[in-house]
Amino acid sequence: MNINAENKLASYIDALRPIIYINHFDFCIVDNLLKRVGDNVSFIEYNNALGAIDFATKSPQMECDLEQFLKLNMDEGFDQPTFIILKDVHNELKRPEIIALLKRISEDNLYKEDYSATIFIVSTTVIIPTELENYITVFDIPLPTEKEINEIIRNFINDINIEVEQDILDEIAVSFKGLNEFQINQILNLAYQNGGYIDKKDKYLILKEKEQFIKKAGMLEIVNFKESIDDIGGLEILKDWLTRKANVFQNLDKAIKFGVDVPKGIMIVGMPGCGKSLTAKATASLFEIPLVRLDVGRLLGKYVGESENNMRKALKLSESISPCVLWIDELEKAFAGVGSEGGDVTTRLFGQFLTWMQEKENTVFIVATANDISKIPPEFLRKGRFDELFFVDLPNAEERRKIIEIHLKKRKKWNKSIDSIALIQKTEGFNGADLEAVVKEAIEDAFIDGKDKITTESLLETIKNTKSISSTMKDKIDKIKETIKKMDIKKASQSKE
Ligand code: ATP
Repeated sequence: MNINAENKLASYIDALRPIIYINHFDFCIVDNLLKRVGDNVSFIEYNNALGAIDFATKSPQMECDLEQFLKLNMDEGFDQPTFIILKDVHNELKRPEIIALLKRISEDNLYKEDYSATIFIVSTTVIIPTELENYITVFDIPLPTEKEINEIIRNFINDINIEVEQDILDEIAVSFKGLNEFQINQILNLAYQNGGYIDKKDKYLILKEKEQFIKKAGMLEIVNFKESIDDIGGLEILKDWLTRKANVFQNLDKAIKFGVDVPKGIMIVGMPGCGKSLTAKATASLFEIPLVRLDVGRLLGKYVGESENNMRKALKLSESISPCVLWIDELEKAFAGVGSEGGDVTTRLFGQFLTWMQEKENTVFIVATANDISKIPPEFLRKGRFDELFFVDLPNAEERRKIIEIHLKKRKKWNKSIDSIALIQKTEGFNGADLEAVVKEAIEDAFIDGKDKITTESLLETIKNTKSISSTMKDKIDKIKETIKKMDIKKASQSKE
């Protein structure tokens, strides 16, 4: 079973953490875990629905509210090591009486000799009253390792008495990575009911089910897209870099066995409308993995600890669909206020995210995109966080030619008589989005005017009437240029005009 979880929890108890908040929905899994770490310990349990109950048999012992339950047990004292298990009591944690009682037990546990009581709060909703912040440790049951997943599958097939070959078992185990024991058993059941056996094709079922979990949780958004690397004009250095890394993601199992460190991710900063979002999509397409978007603003909650809990869940979710690309758009806005007065929650979320990034050994590839690098907390830019940091500038002449060509071809309006040189001369300072807009407008005009061909003249006419980003957002563009000059960032494309 989950040795990982057992060791981690035992270390918290040994370190006298007075209140351990177990963030889990499956009481059965939690009970088993507590039994394994609680050798020679008395268990007392309170359940929000039933009052005091017998931990071993689960039969109700006494109808009472949480306050009475805690007081009664405190009166008897805790001279024997005791686990106080409180289930689904999150709503009670707003009451001052309950807070005071929990604080009292916590302090006695820390400072009194011959007193040993660890409180476990088990719930899927994490509510941390400010008064108890220093006493509470939130504990997420770590997800099963590949070996443990193998064991869960083996137990399942033994129980229903079917034969599954070892190599099929290994492959399915890899796909199950990131899911918890409950979810794995649920999917195995579904797979078995579908055909009366378990085989390699069930990998697709697992992926589909994983997507369902993501949708239900509502913390991440699965992005559907059609774009590929060929839809990006220019950015050759960035594209080459990604194409090399794609080799790893397309052959992940082999690469890991060979000893390759799984790439962590990239940060792309730079001018607006120059293909940053496009690159996030093209990465997922090139790596042949799903694209999920993390919107930090959506994670913010009203209660203490709620936002952190949401962030934890979102990151865990991304692991559960991994390998995947986790896209954080407008990073500077996502973590705005970090380190500032009043920015406590974002600072904590940011710290949480960095730790996760630092420690992550999963196959989630992060693509973070941002315009204004000066607003990004410097910790993000430190070496080792991302595999690479790229600067996307306004497209140079050759890139502008390619972007125009891509958008004309996409709409089946490219023809060899179009004079690229004339177009690139008149589009200096245009970004990709401006160029796309020019193409769209020229096509629309041609349709309205009853012409069937796009000509250099019609494109030049539209260009003349288009205000480029360099004129409409001059200050912003200059500021980005200034900031970038001072930093050592890899350019996404060769500089040539
Ligand atoms: P923002 O910072 O404003 O979010 P962005 O850099 O993420 O901008 P994208 O959303 O990738 O910009 O691009 C906007 C539009 O411009 C896209 O629809 C895309 O078609 C076009 N575009 C931008 N850059 C390129 C490019 N290098 N090649 C082809 N099309 C591009």
